Amino acid sequence: MIRKIIHIDEEKCNGCGLCAEACHEGAIDMVDGKAKLVREHFCDGLGDCLPNCPTGAITFEEREAPAYDEAAVVCKELRKLPLRIVVNSSHCLSMRRKRPVDVYVAGRLLRSQGTAGF
Ligand code: SF4
Repeated sequence: MIRKIIHIDEEKCNGCGLCAEACHEGAIDMVDGKAKLVREHFCDGLGDCLPNCPTGAITFEEREAPAYDEAAVVCKELRKLPLRIVVNSSHCLSMRRKRPVDVYVAGRLLRSQGTAGF
């Protein structure tokens, strides 16, 4: 699909990492000292990273990209949680992965985000 997504100009990037910290979805990683949009489907196109970039390396562009996948973002966050009860979450199955998530904490997180009900 054609949609709005960020573009990072590597020539302008000084590697400070502020954009990766600002991206709540975890779409940006630092690779060899440069910011990279490594998970396009994690980029919601809202641009929380833009105002944090001191060099103006990040802009928006309209181009072919995978759709924003909120369920994948939530599942990534859930996997950071320490307490685990093994279950295959329907949200995580949408990512075609079958990895365990913590049901109790997952339910609280999803409800707090208004994402889904457990
Ligand atoms: S905030 Fe800007 S300069 Fe800093 S790592 Fe990200 S793109 Fe590079």
